[in-house]
Formats: sequence, C-alpha cells, structure tokens
Amino acid sequence: MNKEISEKENCIFCKIINGEIPSNKVYEDEDTFAFLDINPVNIGHTLLVPKKHSQNIFDIETETLQKITPILKKLSLSIKEAVGADGINIISNNGGAAGQLVFHLHLHIIPRFSDDGLKHWHGKNYSKEEMSETAEKIKLNLKN
Ligand code: AMP
Ligand code: ZN
Repeated sequence: MNKEISEKENCIFCKIINGEIPSNKVYEDEDTFAFLDINPVNIGHTLLVPKKHSQNIFDIETETLQKITPILKKLSLSIKEAVGADGINIISNNGGAAGQLVFHLHLHIIPRFSDDGLKHWHGKNYSKEEMSETAEKIKLNLKN
C-alpha cells in the first residue's frame, strides 16, 4: 500500500466525512464538509474541511482550497449569528510545529466574545534590516 493511500485510510476526518465516525455536521456539499469541534475553544467552534484529502496548506491543490473559501464566509456569518458572537477567529494549523494534530487540512472557525478572556500571541520586535531581508527571502521563494 502506498503512503498516500494508508494516510487517507487512517485519517479521522476522512472517516467523519464518510460517516464512519459520527459528528455534529453543520454543512455539506459536493466538495466540503463542516462539523463541530469536539473540544471547542468557545461554543460553536466549527471545523471546515475539503472532502478531498490533503495534509495541509503545503500539499493542498489550489482548486480544492478555492472551493472552500465561499463556504468559509457563509459559515462564519451563520456561526456568528447562531451563538451571538462578537467576532470570529479563522485559524489553520499547518505542520506539527504549528500545532497540527490531525493531518487533513481544516480551518477552525472560532466564535469570539468580547468578554471571553482569551488572549492573542504577543508580537516580537524586528530590526529594520531583518525585516527587509525577510521580506526579500519570501519574495524570492514565491512560486506559481
Ligand atoms: P489541529 O490539528 O491541532 O488543528 O486540531 C484538530 C482539532 O480536531 C482539535 O481542535 C480537536 O478537538 C478536533 N477533533 C479531533 N477529533 C475530533 C472529532 N472526532 N470530532 C470533532 N473534532 C475533533
Ligand atoms: Zn483525510
């Protein structure tokens, strides 16, 4: 069995999409699936996934990514309304170092409340040189 097949077969989110593992589904169409996160940061925390398996942002096809973006907007609005949130965080963890635990690309849609007490990461300082060198390196590495 090749690596790609075995990854898909053991993928918990593929199993949720296929209905092999139960979930609280909130949306489904031909290409996308969305369900409540089992350990919500706040009530209404939803995971939006493309049905086509890819691990994360590094291997997903652009076309697959494009298919989920209109649904991201639709769901963000409905989740905000449903739970009376004041805002929404949209987060995607890509790679183990970024905290990714499930290797099927997913977007966390997290309702936020003015008084929920959650804090954002602190920003670091850049020197001007390091900042412009970093921007140049990123530009050099841009591919189609
Ligand atoms: P991460 O890969 O770190 O972006 O997060 C994976 C997310 O999947 C976590 O927030 C988990 O709570 C969530 N999760 C894992 N298993 C399930 C499941 N069976 N149903 C719903 N959410 C899940
Ligand atoms: Zn999968």
